Parts: sequence; structure tokens; C-alpha cells
Amino acid sequence: MDEVLFKHNFTFKKKFGQNFLTDPNLLHAIVADAGVNERTTALEIGTGAGALTRALSERAKRVVSYEIDKSLQPVLAETLSGCENVEVVFRDFMREALCAVERELGEEYLVVANLPYYVTTPVVMKFAEESERCRGLTVMVQEEVARRFCAEAGSSDYGAVTAALARRGSAKITRLVSRTLFTPRPNVDSAVVKVDFTEGGFEVRSAKAYRETVRCAFLNRRKTLENNLMSSFSLSREEAKALLKELNVPDGARGETLTPPRLGALSDLLFAQRLFS
Ligand code: SAM
Repeated sequence: MDEVLFKHNFTFKKKFGQNFLTDPNLLHAIVADAGVNERTTALEIGTGAGALTRALSERAKRVVSYEIDKSLQPVLAETLSGCENVEVVFRDFMREALCAVERELGEEYLVVANLPYYVTTPVVMKFAEESERCRGLTVMVQEEVARRFCAEAGSSDYGAVTAALARRGSAKITRLVSRTLFTPRPNVDSAVVKVDFTEGGFEVRSAKAYRETVRCAFLNRRKTLENNLMSSFSLSREEAKALLKELNVPDGARGETLTPPRLGALSDLLFAQRLFS
């Protein structure tokens, strides 16, 4: 891998979060954690030099991989040669409409990626909030971010991303990964998180209402939920109090004390009051 990068004068770009993996055992372990098999369509965000892409290609039916950095084109032509089931799309994934990506994929899929750290949370939020055919994500992220994905309500790690993922399924850390396994070496350790959208989620009356309720609950963590509700939904204090009373939320509670299903119940109440356009 190093020789191919060198041969093509490739320089690592920090702004794109380029920390590549090469350890074959780890790459195969990530693919196994994801549960990829010969029926799987895998979507990767961040092809890099193609190490994880190739490992996916060996197990999956089809791999679609997005890469923002076109200077990797000659590298990938070499490292992915012979991988007939791989399609690399040289575009910024964050600028893609997920519904268009899903239309192109044409079937259910799994996201498997060593995510660029600077867009980790927006990428994961995009799948949690908008995806219709995603069965789950197995992603390498910074360890501290991984803990947020799996956090318990009330803990300091619990936040909007935890609640967004919890509505869709269950999240768990499958392995911790030392910074020494990346080139170039980052300043922090990482972890692989598996989010399974096929089990453990819950229904809400409106996904949009849930999204806005979650944003409101974590809008200002130092404020009470009552105050956040008043400012987010233009409610009077009496109206906000009445809503929280219906859910038996104690006076002065903060948003972070509500578990994701309780946030779901709150969003259903707000939805019933037609507070969403
Ligand atoms: N998958 C490779 C690996 O495991 O070695 C590379 C992972 S590296 C952490 C992240 C990759 O994502 C980089 O190649 C980077 O150029 C690419 N990337 C960064 N932002 C992106 C974006 N918005 N859309 C698509 N790819 C992006």
C-alpha cells in the first residue's frame, strides 16, 4: 500500500480526515463484525487507498464506495484492480441526497466504513434520520464519539446522536482500535461501533417530530426541558408544564434525563398538538 501511494505521489490530507488502515486482520474483523455476506450490498464512505473496500469486496455481493479526493483515482485503479463488484464514486458524500443514493443502490444495504473524523456525526445522523433502506452501520470512529453513540440516558455522553440512533435500533462497540494501526497515526484511539437498524428501535408517529423534539431536548443542556420546549415550540410556560405533566416528567428536569422512548412519547404529544409544519 505504501509503495502504491508513494508511486503516485499521494500526500495525506488532514482536512479530509485521511488516516488509512492496513492491518489485514483488523480489516477482516470489521467486515465480520458488520455481518457482510454474499447477499450484502455494502456502502462505504471514504474509500481511501481501498484497503477496507477490497476486504468488503471479497465477502459482499456489491460494494459502492464514495471518495471525495480525486487524487486517489490512480491509486485505487491499482489497489482495486480485479474487484469487479466494486464501484467507486468520486463525490462528496455529504452533498448527496440520501434518497438519491438509496435509489441508485436499489435495495437494502449495510454501511461499513472507517469514517473521516470531521464528518462522523453528520454522516451517522444522516442515516439515523433519513435512511429508508439501511439495515445498519458498522463504522470506525474516534473512541469518544463511539461512547456517545451507545450512551445511557442521563450520562454526560448522552446526546442528540444517541437518541437519533436509539429510535432506529441498537448500538454497541464491537472493538477498540489503537491509534498505532492507522497511517498517519492520529492523536486519539478509535473504536468500531455496530448499529443494527433491524432490532431494538421503536415507533414514533412522526420521524420529523422526533427529530425536532430531540434537537429541542439537547438544545441547551443547562436549561430545563420546560424552558427548551418554550423556546423551540413557542409554548407558554403553562402549556410546556402541562405537556411534561402528562408524561410524569418532574419539575425542573433536563432533556438529557429522558430516555429515547420517553423522548418519543414527548414527540408524539407535540405532534398531536400539530406543532410541526
Ligand atoms: N477506508 C479507508 C481506510 O480504512 O483506510 C480510508 C479511511 S479515511 C479515515 C477516510 C476517507 O474518507 C479518506 O480517504 C477521505 O479522503 C474520505 N472522505 C473525507 N470526506 C469525505 C466525504 N465528504 N465524502 C467522501 N469521502 C470523504
